[in-house]
Amino acid sequence: MKSIVLPIALAVALATPLAAQRPTPPAPPPLDPQVAAMRDAALAGDTVAWDIVEGITTEVGPRMAGTEAEARARAWGLAKLTALGFKNVRIETTKMRTWVRGGETAEVISPFPQKLRLTALGSSGATPPEGLTAEIVYFPTFGDLQAAPDGSLKGKIAFVSNAMVATQDGSSYGSFGSARFVGPNLAAKKGAAAMIIRSIGSDHGRGPHTGQTNFEKGVTPIPAAALSTSDADNLSRMVKRGKPVTLHLTLTPRDLGMTETGNVIGEVPGTDPAAGLIVVGGHLDSWDLGTGAIDDGAGIAITAAAAKRFLDGPPPRRTIRVVWFGDEETGGAGSDAYFAAHKDEPHALAAESDFGADRVWRFAVALPDGAKAVGDRLQVALAPLGIVRSKEKAGDGADIEPLVKAGVSVVDLNQSGTRYFDYHHTPEDTLERIDPVQLRQNVAAWTAMLAVVANAPEALVKPK
Ligand code: ZN
Ligand code: ZN
Repeated sequence: MKSIVLPIALAVALATPLAAQRPTPPAPPPLDPQVAAMRDAALAGDTVAWDIVEGITTEVGPRMAGTEAEARARAWGLAKLTALGFKNVRIETTKMRTWVRGGETAEVISPFPQKLRLTALGSSGATPPEGLTAEIVYFPTFGDLQAAPDGSLKGKIAFVSNAMVATQDGSSYGSFGSARFVGPNLAAKKGAAAMIIRSIGSDHGRGPHTGQTNFEKGVTPIPAAALSTSDADNLSRMVKRGKPVTLHLTLTPRDLGMTETGNVIGEVPGTDPAAGLIVVGGHLDSWDLGTGAIDDGAGIAITAAAAKRFLDGPPPRRTIRVVWFGDEETGGAGSDAYFAAHKDEPHALAAESDFGADRVWRFAVALPDGAKAVGDRLQVALAPLGIVRSKEKAGDGADIEPLVKAGVSVVDLNQSGTRYFDYHHTPEDTLERIDPVQLRQNVAAWTAMLAVVANAPEALVKPK
């Protein structure tokens, strides 16, 4: 038998007791009993978040940005925040380019005739009213589509079938999502007549996942749709049998031109205006297939429910401003309008909730150098909820992106993504997906976070 020779450094490390290798971590800061009390009260008994998400899904339902349904959602939001006791409640409107769904059908003509379930992607172009018939060109991955020679897709339907898998941190959405975000634009530039993708989702059902796609200026939008994961896998199996596959596709979405959208805003006034304001929120709009429960009824509910707890107790040092952004899904007119109107106000910190209603498992911060202790206090306040600290720098959220880019401090409260993409942007995004126990854990986390940051004695507004 060959003897194993350990490198000296490794041999020494193995021989040294563990305690001697690691410096003793500094003692954590004490937990403010007021923070703990507010957190625990939310965890035990919050009903406001459920009331909001149940209310908006029941009384408004689907609310595509820029449509009359979003206008009804704004009116609903104004009434709700007013009834909850928020101050300075108002709607701030802006204009946006609005796309709406039409008819959408697909069937395999040959070699195995059958109907397929799909849904148009936001910004998709339209087929002729009678539809189009073309052969598909199959790409297992987005990279394969990128490698296709220019002009090689002329008159064809490009089909990218990459299969997203779920991860707790949701990062696979970014890596698999390119097929949707930019695939149709690329296929259009290569001459394709249309493009279909396997839904960017982790389920195995027949409910397709919609979502926005983006065409560059100068590229004419082609019809673009997502097959349900099940239908995409079926179509992939047909391709693998080796014969040309011909599809008949009908998509008739419309562009409504410029219409109105708007943000709904309410505040918990603080005692020290010079300390800056805290912005929290999510987006009011939703896709049209479900009722927008996890995306993002939950986010507006969680953030408003946490802020509401400061209306019922001693006022916070910093004003807490709740913003329900009007358009996030189809281009972000809501966040652009908010930033244009409020960028000169002293923003101390921003945080967004837009990842469903499952439990918060991790947090991250981006704070000024002089406020590092705030992160340590958050760690102590959030640990009893099973929330760990990330080493990554915070900065999540499309709605607060302009603020983050401008250097405003951020806290991310990351929710578990293990089942979010089973339902994301599908007909199954309904109230049944919300677990009230996990929803309360979210409200408790947001309450604790706000209790720490809104009352922090450190300076949070970065000097201009
Ligand atoms: Zn969202
Ligand atoms: Zn969404």
